[in-house]
Amino acid sequence: MKVGVPKEIKTHEYRVGLTPGAVREYVAAGHSVLVETNAGAGIGATDDNYRKAGATIAASAREVFASSEMIVKVKEPQASEWTQLRENQILFTYLHLAPDPEQANGLIKSGCTAIAYETVTDAHEGLPLLAPMSEVAGRLSIEAAGAALKRYAGGRGLLIGGVPGVQPARIVVIGGGVVGTHAARMAAGLGAEVTILDRSIPRLRELDELFKGRVRTRFSTIDAVEEEVFAADVVIGAVLVPGASAPKLVNRSMLGSMRKGSVIVDVAIDQGGCFETSRATTHADPTYEVEGVIHYCVANMPGAVPLTSSQALNNATLPFGLALANKGFAAALENPHLRAGLNVYRGRLTYKAVAESLGLPF
Ligand code: NAD
Repeated sequence: MKVGVPKEIKTHEYRVGLTPGAVREYVAAGHSVLVETNAGAGIGATDDNYRKAGATIAASAREVFASSEMIVKVKEPQASEWTQLRENQILFTYLHLAPDPEQANGLIKSGCTAIAYETVTDAHEGLPLLAPMSEVAGRLSIEAAGAALKRYAGGRGLLIGGVPGVQPARIVVIGGGVVGTHAARMAAGLGAEVTILDRSIPRLRELDELFKGRVRTRFSTIDAVEEEVFAADVVIGAVLVPGASAPKLVNRSMLGSMRKGSVIVDVAIDQGGCFETSRATTHADPTYEVEGVIHYCVANMPGAVPLTSSQALNNATLPFGLALANKGFAAALENPHLRAGLNVYRGRLTYKAVAESLGLPF
């Protein structure tokens, strides 16, 4: 199959659809890969790196779109991209169509076959192409908290792990899924005192088993959230209720009872955030303060570390992308997990929840 990788054009997007390592896998499987010049610049991969991996370099995105049977990207296509898509062409990327009628209509009009990373499933009822970004964001949340705790940044002036004889930071993680587990792992690794709150008792059992007593677990009630948040130096918001906005678990009136200079990292900000006072920020200006509490609410945290994020994303997408290229679209979609990723096919939406939220036919 002819596979194409355009350079990402969304502002501050430095990841790339295929790393040179992934290109090598496609080429080894007998496919040809066309990569737009400089597509890998954000992760330090040169055109020469791609050539060595077996790719051909295209001078423009137009050339990539015109001559590829499958386009592999990271972010949802922008208007200048979806107008270049055509019937029988596969688009494999994050789409997040539900809140984006303009893009949805663009893809419908193009006639392309669009498979969304975020709705591909696995055998454990997970979302394997979203999980790597949650892993990155979870781990990064502790680095962000560490930076915000510094005195010059407005924080309490506390070192996360403390030193011998001095107590470490108390870190409370609300939501013990992928983000929460990776945040807890980093925090515990740095020597913090860590508590994870979750609504799922089976999940709390798994976490208890996983951390072998190194991390406390607590069932998430209003009482428990209040008690833990008031005593915390850092609170990580990592809840998710699938298909819904994040529940607001910490309201404005609670901030007054929190420690001055304590830090909130609301990773769930991409679903509206789980703190009433959260509003999305960017890497350029990631924090702000409300009632003495530093808020970090960057909506695309993995974008800060495109090298790690691109590799993690490629590891997860590679088996699915290769299946599409090796077997062709129809045979590959016999796999129900990849089929779950199909959002648009021949001018129709094929994902019920997306169609319902857009009020379009399914
Ligand atoms: P997940 O489904 O793996 O975990 C969510 C956890 O929240 C589950 O264990 C669930 O039981 C728990 N939960 C639900 N309601 C709760 C409540 N009231 N109290 C306590 N726990 C509760 O999800 P995830 O992959 O860890 O993602 C978490 C959030 O982080 C999502 O909103 C996701 O979109 C977001 N995220 C943001 C970024 C970013 O850059 N900001 C990056 C990746 C993921």
